[in-house]
Amino acid sequence: MSQSPRKVACPGCGKLTPWSTDNPWRPFCSERCKLIDLGHWATERYRVEGDTPTEDDDGSH
Ligand SMILES: [Zn+2]
Repeated sequence: MSQSPRKVACPGCGKLTPWSTDNPWRPFCSERCKLIDLGHWATERYRVEGDTPTEDDDGSH
């Protein structure tokens, strides 16, 4: 039986990385790319939340 681990493109850098249990960061190629991607998510969410006008700012009670 030939071992041919499935490869996926790392969402962080696009590098082909084997999808295996040996890689705890899958589908990322490394911890670094995973953290970067999570950071992007957090940033995006933060920006979206900050972009929406808060009704508290209206001042009218
Ligand atoms: Zn990567």
